[in-house]
Amino acid sequence: MPSNPVLSLIVPFYNEEESLPMLLDQICQAMEEQELHALFELPFTFELLMIDDGSTDGSSGFIRKQIDRRPEVKLVSLQKNFGKTAALAAGFRYASGEVVVTLDADLQDDPFTVKELVAKLQEGYDLVSGWKRQRNDPLSKTIPSRIFNTTTRLLTGIELHDFNCGLKAYRKKVVASLDLHGEMHRYIPVLAEWNGFRVTEIPVKHNARRFGRTKFGASRVFPGLFDFFTVLFITRYLRQPMHFFGMLSLISFLAGFGISLYVTIGKIFFNQAVVNRPILFLGILLIIVAVQFFSIGLLGEMLTRDTSSTPDYTVRETVNVDEDR
Ligand code: UDP
Ligand code: MG
Repeated sequence: MPSNPVLSLIVPFYNEEESLPMLLDQICQAMEEQELHALFELPFTFELLMIDDGSTDGSSGFIRKQIDRRPEVKLVSLQKNFGKTAALAAGFRYASGEVVVTLDADLQDDPFTVKELVAKLQEGYDLVSGWKRQRNDPLSKTIPSRIFNTTTRLLTGIELHDFNCGLKAYRKKVVASLDLHGEMHRYIPVLAEWNGFRVTEIPVKHNARRFGRTKFGASRVFPGLFDFFTVLFITRYLRQPMHFFGMLSLISFLAGFGISLYVTIGKIFFNQAVVNRPILFLGILLIIVAVQFFSIGLLGEMLTRDTSSTPDYTVRETVNVDEDR
């Protein structure tokens, strides 16, 4: 097999042993399609990067056995369960294809839609996200997800229906630009769009979960919302924290200064009392807060000049993966 595949498929999995045999068969069948091959300029080759996110069942053992039969299959096992974001980040680090496609391991995503995603990508997009238009999940998942998608669409102005679909196709450069932490995989289209990439979506088929159960309950809504502010901050202001804190500082200072000026003018020209006026304390408070914001901004600026980003995960071992990458 040539060392650089044109397509990298990344599948994060956490205890999905019942689904994996069928998934691998479906993927390999889908990869044989001529229509898919025709989308690439170079001879078609692919790698299937299976990311074991700390599974404790037979998932990892099954993949290991497959590697002997199918040289395209590669395994990266994380040291423990770090979560889907970390698993995807690990996949992105080891992927070497020009085009990278992610899909879930639980058979809810259809490997045969990979060619539709890639075809859309080749129209000139950098990221194509799946849209589970007909979503086959219980209401406890679809309702929070609807709220999440509507909020994210309104707050970001990005016109997607389904930000958090497991099925996505990326150009290599998008994957290289993503610095994923926490639970940020839900905001990948936002990060990409704000980094200047062309993002779009296409409707994809979505199956009900056949085996096992979902790893994400309704409790994910609020952490998700906080992640939004993190995403906002790191995409817009990480490299210039002073633009954020400086603005807050300026607003606070102008308000505090205005109040102090008002009190001073009252004293000098109209002989009004200075002490015993609650508004004076507000003015003082606002000026102090302004100094605080300014200092935080400055500290932030210093930090951005001295950060080395470390990933959120550690790798236990890799099988059949080029370690030089
Ligand atoms: N997953 C993972 N690590 C986790 C949780 C989930 O790698 O900590 C994988 C999981 O095995 C599946 C995909 O992420 O392949 C999506 O998870 P799930 O199907 O539970 O999410 P849902 O479809 O219910 O939103
Ligand atoms: Mg699922």
